[in-house]
Amino acid sequence: MIPAGTSTKNLKQAPFSGITCANCQSENNIISVSASYLHIIWIPLFPYRKTMGIVCSNCKHVVRIYETSEEVREMAKQLKATVKPPWYLFLGSIILTLIIGLLVVQSTSRKNKYSAYLENPQVNDIYALRNAYETPENKYELWKVINVKEDSIDMSVSIFKYRYIPNQLKPEDLFFDNYITYHKNTMLEFLKNGTIAKVSRGMTIVKGNSTESIPDSTNIDGDYSK
Ligand SMILES: [Zn+2]
Repeated sequence: MIPAGTSTKNLKQAPFSGITCANCQSENNIISVSASYLHIIWIPLFPYRKTMGIVCSNCKHVVRIYETSEEVREMAKQLKATVKPPWYLFLGSIILTLIIGLLVVQSTSRKNKYSAYLENPQVNDIYALRNAYETPENKYELWKVINVKEDSIDMSVSIFKYRYIPNQLKPEDLFFDNYITYHKNTMLEFLKNGTIAKVSRGMTIVKGNSTESIPDSTNIDGDYSK
């Protein structure tokens, strides 16, 4: 479990006059303003409440603000309003915002790269397509480019379906002999609507311990052992 909770930080302490201590009749009091904040993994996320307290500096008797005069309450309220929580009480929110921003930038540049690949398809490019209606273990299938015509692409569909998009192909990751043909614009539309989840170029095939590039499309017969 992620450790999260609330904590309190003292923001300001200042002498405060105008009240006579009910306990020792001293007129020297200290007003303090604190912020309660939410933290996660001990990093302050954001402050959510400001509180204040007045204590007699002589005998530490706590003054109940609601028992003081309206004038004193107004003074205390104004003082409380001037105290601003320091930036580091927002540190967690700042970090989260940066992370989200970074993820958005990354995802945008990835999509830009994918659409550049789709606009200029090359033989052996691999497209991973997501099927939302399939069971999780059959969520993805691969389409391999076997031929590029002017505006359309011929692709062989993978025999297997995948739970995760593979980063490498194994010899047993075969493709059907027949192929489907789509217009480039349709493929770009598939990327836009999320059907194409990944476009890979130069994907390698792992054979035991050695790695080699996808064989030339001239002998596409779904058999890499040749
Ligand atoms: Zn006192």
